[in-house]
Amino acid sequence: MTPTVSLLLLLLLGLSRAHPLHDEGNEDEDDVDITTRILTSNNATDEILLEGDLLAPKTRNAMKCWYQSCQWKKGYNGLVTIPFTVSSQFTSWEKQKIDSAMKVYHSSTCIRFVPRQNEYDYISIENRAGCFSALGRVGGRQVLSLNRQGCVYHGVVLHEINHALGFQHEQTRSDRDNYVKINWEYINPQNAYNFYKQNTNNLNTPYDYTSVMHYGRTAFTVQYGRDTITPIPNPNVQIGQRRGMSRWDIIRINALYGC
Ligand SMILES: [Zn+2]
Repeated sequence: MTPTVSLLLLLLLGLSRAHPLHDEGNEDEDDVDITTRILTSNNATDEILLEGDLLAPKTRNAMKCWYQSCQWKKGYNGLVTIPFTVSSQFTSWEKQKIDSAMKVYHSSTCIRFVPRQNEYDYISIENRAGCFSALGRVGGRQVLSLNRQGCVYHGVVLHEINHALGFQHEQTRSDRDNYVKINWEYINPQNAYNFYKQNTNNLNTPYDYTSVMHYGRTAFTVQYGRDTITPIPNPNVQIGQRRGMSRWDIIRINALYGC
C-alpha cells in the first residue's frame, strides 16, 4: 500500500468513527440503544403511554397530528419559536444536556427553543416517571418527561423533542412492511398496538433505519434476545441507534416546518 493510500484510509477510518453531530465525552452514553433506555425507564410508570413513550392525549387522536393543527407556529422571521420551562429538579449538568440537545435544532433547523415568558403553548420539561412526550403541539402546557435516572441522555432528549415536534416512530410508518418485518410471535398481545402501522406523513423521505425515532430490534420482546423488529431484506442492517439525529431526521424537521 502506498503511503498516500494508507493515509487516506486512516483518515476515512477516523471520520467513520467520529460522532455524527456531537461529541458526548461520555463513554457509557451509547452502551444501549435509545429505545431500550426509554422502554426500561418507562417500565414502572403510571402514565398511559402509546408506543412506549407517547402520552395518550385527552383531546385528540394521538396518531393524527399531521397538518398544521399540531405543529408549532412559524413567526414572520421564518423561525419556529417553542417556549419551554425546565424543572428545578434537574441539576445544572442535566440542564446542560437538555440545552446541548436543543442546540442541535438551533444549528440545523429553524426551530428555536426559548425560555417561556408568558406564552400559552409551551413544553414543560419535567422529571417524571419515565421518558415520554406528547405528539406535536397539544395546546397549553405540555409535559415532556425526562426521568433523571434514565432519560437524560443526548439521544433520548432528541427523541422526545422530535415527538413534541410531531414525529412518530419510524417503524410505524405506513410503508414499513417493505423495510422491516415485525415478529409478532415475540410480542405480548397486550403490547401489539405499539407496532401498529400509522397513517404517517413521510414527507417524501425514504425509510430511515438510522433515524433517532426508530426502535431497536428487541423493543417489547417477550423473550430476551429475540428480535421483534427485523430489517428486510438484509437482517443485519443496524436499527435503534444510540447517538443522535440522522441526516434524514434533520431534513424532515426542515421539511415539516418549511425551514
Ligand atoms: Zn418514542
